Amino acid sequence: MTTKYNIGVDLGGTNVKIAIVDYDGHIVYSNSVPTRAEMGYEYTISNIITEIQTSLKETQIPKSDIGGIGFGLPGQVDYEKGLVHILPNIPGWINVPLGQIMEERFGLPTKADNDVNVATLGEFAHGAGKGAKDIVCITVGTGIGAGIIANGQMVRGASMAAGELGHMILKDQGGDICGCGQTGCLETLASGPSIVKLAHDYIMGGKSCKFKELAINTPITSQIVGEAANMGDAVSKRIFEIIGYWIGIALANTVNLLNPEKIVIGGGVAQAGDILFNPIRETIQKRSLKVAADAVEVVPAQLGESAGVVGASILANSNLVGSK
Ligand SMILES: [Zn+2]
Repeated sequence: MTTKYNIGVDLGGTNVKIAIVDYDGHIVYSNSVPTRAEMGYEYTISNIITEIQTSLKETQIPKSDIGGIGFGLPGQVDYEKGLVHILPNIPGWINVPLGQIMEERFGLPTKADNDVNVATLGEFAHGAGKGAKDIVCITVGTGIGAGIIANGQMVRGASMAAGELGHMILKDQGGDICGCGQTGCLETLASGPSIVKLAHDYIMGGKSCKFKELAINTPITSQIVGEAANMGDAVSKRIFEIIGYWIGIALANTVNLLNPEKIVIGGGVAQAGDILFNPIRETIQKRSLKVAADAVEVVPAQLGESAGVVGASILANSNLVGSK
């Protein structure tokens, strides 16, 4: 066998990224096509198929050197069957037999998983989690998600819904209503929108703060608050301390439960750097059991935008991924 590459596909609401990735995680070819969800899933899949054909032609990699195709998608996916149940933000993708369609077209094993699991696999195999056997990878952006690898295997759960750290309930009473219908979820306390909400609360309270100056003609975003905090603005730093505290509490619970060696943090909000990571690390140290806290390292994600295609590329033919 001289198979050396996999194809990784990262499907987002606007674009689909497609890459040929070698077994060491290096991207040898990448391109993207528009998702155009309004045209129906058949249209998107047909564009993906054409782009895969183009990529093989341009790189002159024979199909026999491709081990398989993997997809990362933002929603509920049956990994075993390659069946996309639903993508909440991409209309029309309901019960799409993606794996079957691709296998019939290319004759290559095809797997699909949700984007957070895929990013976790990427970081585990080729990024910040490399070398560890037990990792938790969390993404903090508009929402909060997590992927878990325990003893070298992806933890998917009985209905493939494991890792919903954003819905860990941290307040038993009161608080804002979460997208999941509950109250008191981590996601209502520490996601990108929570940062914006806190920023508005401080402005309403009459606090003068740097992000107000930075956002003169644009709405306040979590990036702007992060910038202001990194410029030394006290209120912005305080906001990241609060956010970091709540993420730290959720992760202290996670550390006690799973005893991971590494916690990898990525996503838009994590770009803020130490102003977010320091309160997270401090809270984990203070609030989890010493034996587990001493073992864990909290590190930023390394693969950035490539985590999707690199992680997806590993799905199809790896024994890392918890397939039966
Ligand atoms: Zn929730």
